[in-house]
Amino acid sequence: MLKLQDIPRIFLEESGLTLKEGVVLSKYSSFRIGGPADYFLEVREPVDLNKAIQIARHHQCPFYVIGRGYNLLFDDSGYRGLIIRNLASGIKFEADNYSLEVCSGTCLSDLLNKAISEGLTGLEFLAGIPGTVGGAVYGNAGAFGQAIGDRVLEITILGDSGQEIPVTREELQFDYRHSALKNSHKVIVKTRIEVEPISGNEVRRKIEDYLEQRSKKLPPEGTACAGSFFKNPVHGGKKIPAGQLLEQAGAKGMKVGQAAVYSGHCNFIINLGGATCLQVLTLAEELKEKVWKHSGIRLEEEVIFVSATSSML
Ligand SMILES: Cc1cc2nc3c(=O)[nH]c(=O)nc-3n(C[C@H](O)[C@H](O)[C@H](O)COP(=O)(O)OP(=O)(O)OC[C@H]3O[C@@H](n4cnc5c(N)ncnc54)[C@H](O)[C@@H]3O)c2cc1C
Repeated sequence: MLKLQDIPRIFLEESGLTLKEGVVLSKYSSFRIGGPADYFLEVREPVDLNKAIQIARHHQCPFYVIGRGYNLLFDDSGYRGLIIRNLASGIKFEADNYSLEVCSGTCLSDLLNKAISEGLTGLEFLAGIPGTVGGAVYGNAGAFGQAIGDRVLEITILGDSGQEIPVTREELQFDYRHSALKNSHKVIVKTRIEVEPISGNEVRRKIEDYLEQRSKKLPPEGTACAGSFFKNPVHGGKKIPAGQLLEQAGAKGMKVGQAAVYSGHCNFIINLGGATCLQVLTLAEELKEKVWKHSGIRLEEEVIFVSATSSML
């Protein structure tokens, strides 16, 4: 039976990869919350992502893959096992079928810049959304009525023995902030994204417009948060903004410890400095309860809670 303390030695022997120990996860989440992970590894090449996952699976070491940590809430007690931070990036434009092949650790901003530089349209709605392509595909990130799932042609995931498996858009069952990956816990290696050619300045104009609209709604840059905390619920066949429901229910001004509702938009929980995961979760429960009592609608979290024992094994 493998002992957790043997993991760094096994990684080094089997892959040459060096794990860090006791890394504080708050540094890797835009919420700036989270205790120490037993083990932590940053990968910059798809081959290393593949190796790390194969070794962790083979030795039954609990692991969890993150991107840039813009949609996560880590546990106060950190993580029991290995956190793999995926920075494996790269983008290839395939002119014959107008698609971009993107490594999963690529930042969305780099993807958008590549599309602009190649004279391509279709991804403007991604402007200002922080994080990686892997994180975006996992949660079907989007804005302004569009989402990345509309543009995904195919992704490649890692199979149990490390083989790369193609998965089509249909199989991913994209829905509002949802993909089938949320149930399967598979790791995305790369994604093929559909684009179209365009000439002129239309793309830049759209991006500027989107960024301006975002700046009116979002907390100021640098605020510790993880984006919209709750999904916009569907009620009576209509999507209702969670922020509106929260405001009507009296969420403005609510706080638990250092976790507070952002004054400019009730669907953001912000860390005022030194907030704990428990404070955020307690505030979230109070907010859900308030909305339920006020409107009979149940809010569901968009932010992903990574408990100390969450695992993609
Ligand atoms: C200020 C702010 C504004 C935001 N605005 C928006 C917005 O407009 N629209 C929107 O949709 N989101 C928004 N978000 C949330 C966030 O930007 C997106 O969810 C983004 O896609 C997260 O990417 P990430 O790399 O940070 O993922 P992480 O937060 O690191 O991870 C999120 C989830 O994806 C999984 N994941 C990451 N990489 C992989 C992989 N390679 N394979 C399998 N699973 C993987 C992780 O396991 C985790 O469960 C915002 C966040 C902030 C802080």
